[in-house]
Amino acid sequence: SETETILAVEEISSSYGSGLVLEDVSLTVGKGEVVGLLGRNGAGKTTTLRSITGVIKPRSGKIEFRGQDITALSDHEISNLGISYVVEERAVFPDLTVEENLRMGGIKQPSGIMTIEEIFEWMPRLDERKELKASKLSGGEQQMLAIGRALRGKTELLLLDEPTEGLAPQIVEDVIDAIERIQEQDIPILVVEQNLNTIFEVADRVFILEQGRNVYEGTVAELRDDTETQQQYLGVG
Ligand code: ATP
Repeated sequence: SETETILAVEEISSSYGSGLVLEDVSLTVGKGEVVGLLGRNGAGKTTTLRSITGVIKPRSGKIEFRGQDITALSDHEISNLGISYVVEERAVFPDLTVEENLRMGGIKQPSGIMTIEEIFEWMPRLDERKELKASKLSGGEQQMLAIGRALRGKTELLLLDEPTEGLAPQIVEDVIDAIERIQEQDIPILVVEQNLNTIFEVADRVFILEQGRNVYEGTVAELRDDTETQQQYLGVG
């Protein structure tokens, strides 16, 4: 396609010690795209996000962000380039209010700051609850707060790890709305997700991993029609 490539992961292999967890994994995210990263538990999805963000260093392969080789950069340097990462654990400060949590999220990055008002505009549910302590929020609201915190630093690429895991259906819709609003701002998103319906709603393209390797790449429309792939690698259908 003619889409400008924002992120290019090229044949990275990563490990936590001896055995390889990722073997020659490749993927791309283009300008304005939402890309889904799928696969069963343990397939290597989180490890791929950790490799992109510099939390762990690939043993081989290359990661380019806007044409710059970031493979050897620290997690701090990578975050300063505008790659924001929302971990699966939904890191928020439970004893601080929603608004205080967002203020805390905005102090680190020199690349710029998104205003709290903008974030509230994208996530009205947070605006309604801005005086509440984060510990009083539902799981879904905490997820949105974690996304809001990640967006406080100027974001050129957003990485989300299972943003709808364990959430009630109405809250999943709120998270999907937030993802769509972020995409409308031309911020590309790479999202790890187990819920295929969410992927069908938000994503443009998908990559599937199995045992640390690429096994499928296609558009969402292609995956939707390909029940064999869904059964083989995602255990659904
Ligand atoms: P899940 O949905 O379960 O998080 P995943 O696709 O994100 O699955 P990863 O978390 O990337 O998979 O895990 C890939 C493999 O790496 C698994 O076999 C897992 O046990 C192993 N692994 C993950 N984190 C560590 C770690 N900190 N130390 C050692 N091994 C790890």
